[in-house]
Amino acid sequence: MPGLKIDLHTHSTASDGTTPPELLVREALDSGLDALALTDHDTTSGWDAAAEALPVGLRLVRGAEISCSRNGISLHLLAYLFDPAYAPLADRMRELRESRVNRAEQMVRMLVADGVPVTWEQVRLLADGTVGRPHIAQALVQSGLVESVADAFTPEWIGTHGRYWGAKLELDVVEAIGLVEEAGGVAVFAHPGASSRGRTVGDDVIVEMAAAGLVGLEVDHPDHTPEARAHLNRLAQELGLLTTGSSDFHGRNKTVALGAHLTSEDAYGAILARASGLDVL
Ligand code: AMP
Ligand code: FE
Ligand code: FE
Ligand code: ZN
Repeated sequence: MPGLKIDLHTHSTASDGTTPPELLVREALDSGLDALALTDHDTTSGWDAAAEALPVGLRLVRGAEISCSRNGISLHLLAYLFDPAYAPLADRMRELRESRVNRAEQMVRMLVADGVPVTWEQVRLLADGTVGRPHIAQALVQSGLVESVADAFTPEWIGTHGRYWGAKLELDVVEAIGLVEEAGGVAVFAHPGASSRGRTVGDDVIVEMAAAGLVGLEVDHPDHTPEARAHLNRLAQELGLLTTGSSDFHGRNKTVALGAHLTSEDAYGAILARASGLDVL
């Protein structure tokens, strides 16, 4: 029997993907996946729609991708199967979302001040859930200023530390790992080696994260070079961390397909076994 196809990192319209959660689960089954994690940025708001629409034959891992930083460097933490009612974590995630609204408004103000024809109303309508730079990028595409969402992620536009970029609130990753664990969830470091997006943390930070309760590293990811994967695999082995693979699907906001990278059944099983906040659906 061929192995299960498991994709543990995807986005819906609950954050900066373009596929509504109820369609994402259908697309996942149609793509041949057996298990899917829904991991929208800083929110659990897509979970119910995905769960209600869950087709027979697909397992759903409810998760989120939490905006974090360490030593001034941004990073993303995947959290799986945590109790969404655990207030210390839920409260912090709400603060992250609120800060994202303020920051997106600030970025639009900077664009408008320079005469760029985008409006906050436009961005607000593009964002169904957690607002992010891809929504501002979509507004720039709509107004004909850039050709694609990816083209907006440059120093001239809204790339990290770019001309119209603004900082958002991020949780210290050691605090976040602690909160995820207290909520019964499982923490995995998302795309630790995605250096094309900006600075990445060093191995010393991954060592600190492992000591704080990190469970795994996302090794197979579209933004990782073969060298980065080899390095992360070695580091995971040294630190006793499991490794995952995922597409980081964002619908039309990125070019990657669902299931482009996959997680082993062993790693998937270990994540489910470790979680005490929620069950897989
Ligand atoms: P934010 O969380 O608002 O700072 O926006 C970051 C998000 O932008 C990431 O989660 C990706 O979805 C998206 N992103 C980052 N770099 C790129 C890129 N080069 N092309 C397309 N989307 C990107
Ligand atoms: Fe995203
Ligand atoms: Fe990410
Ligand atoms: Zn992601």
